[in-house]
Formats: sequence, structure tokens, C-alpha cells
Amino acid sequence: MKIILLGAPGAGKGTQAEVISNHLGIPTISTGNCLREAVKNGTELGLKAKNDMDHGRLVPDEVVIGIIKERLAQDDCKNGYILDGFPRTVPQAEALTAMGVTIDKVIDIEVADETIEARLSGRRVCESCGASYHLAYKPSKVEGVCDACGGKLVIRKDDEPQTVRDRLQVYHKQTEPVKAYYEKLGKLYPVQGQEEVSDTSALVLKTLEA
Ligand code: AMP
Repeated sequence: MKIILLGAPGAGKGTQAEVISNHLGIPTISTGNCLREAVKNGTELGLKAKNDMDHGRLVPDEVVIGIIKERLAQDDCKNGYILDGFPRTVPQAEALTAMGVTIDKVIDIEVADETIEARLSGRRVCESCGASYHLAYKPSKVEGVCDACGGKLVIRKDDEPQTVRDRLQVYHKQTEPVKAYYEKLGKLYPVQGQEEVSDTSALVLKTLEA
């Protein structure tokens, strides 16, 4: 199964991707994680992307399309995958179609902007392995320390309040039109984000099985 997770930054796409990935045994492909990895390793790609990412802007389409092309060609993608954070613009969605990819379902997780602003302020990520936590909803066992690898938990630069507002604006302007693209193809499945992560997961899995 090939699934796209759509939704504003902080709507919980990453967490839901993990749930679906475990449930269906298919990998999650997150362009955000690929880019952060490139930034951390100081690669040419990372150097190009860093400034846009730090300011909450989108990285140019051709850069992320290149990442996705390379990643989808790998062996573990043969039986399907979950795209988390891609496509984020209509040209990216068109590029995916042009690659010959047929998406089964686009799950759009809907969460109000105010809720997102509150959520992102509590988000923490591991600076070593990239695992994501939340002070209120998904705390690590020991505060400030990653459960998975013992790395240090930090606030992502793009989770700072003004950057979050900028990212939401970018989302409304550039990413929301992607919904109409998939709606026309009859592939769009909206899911209302719930207060409890597990309640959202139940709705997401029900939608996938329907
Ligand atoms: P994320 O972790 O998905 O919120 O992505 C973090 C940042 O990476 C975004 O704010 C963008 O700067 C960049 N990024 C990730 N995915 C894309 C994409 N599909 N198109 C453009 N920029 C992206």
C-alpha cells in the first residue's frame, strides 16, 4: 500500500506514520528527516537546505523530488510505503504522478492552528537519532534524554514560536492546494486529529481498512 500523510506541521503525521508503519510493515519516508540528516552530516544537500529549514520555508521542489526519487528506488519500498511530509506543493504531487507512482490513500490529519502552536512548543527531538517526543503527550522516560539511544533532547530550531507561525502560513498557502489535487483523483481521506494520539491512530487505521 502506498500512503501519503498530509497535514499541517505538528498535526501528528510523524507519530501516525510510525503507527501505520508498524501495523502494515512498510517503511516511512520523511523528507524532513532526510533533510535534517543531510544538515547534520554537513553534505552539499544539507548546506543548501539549512537556511530554508531554519526559517520555516520550503526547500526547493527539485531538491526534495530528487531525494524522493532516490529513496523510492530502494529495495524496502517494493511493497509500499508511507510518505510523511511529501508532497508539500502541487508540483511535488505532479512529480510523484509523473514518476509513475499510484497512491492508494491520502490521509489528511486536520488540526486547528491554535492547537498546533500549543503542541509544537512542547515538542522535543533527539539530536542524535531524530526520535520525536512531547513534554505533555509523549514524554521520554527521563526528561531531556532519548529513550531509544540516550541522546540529548532539544527543541528544533523550526519549532520556535515565530517560525511555527511562518510554517503554518507556508502550509496554508503552498501545501493545502495538494488536498484538492488528490480530492480530484478520489484519493483524499480527511481524519479529524483528536486530543489523544491513540484516538487519532484508531481513526487513521479505520480509514485505511475501509
Ligand atoms: P518536517 O519535519 O516534515 O516538518 O520538515 C522540516 C522542514 O524540512 C520543512 O519546514 C521544510 O523546510 C523542509 N521540508 C521537508 N519536506 C519538504 C518538502 N516535501 N518540500 C519542501 N520542503 C520540505
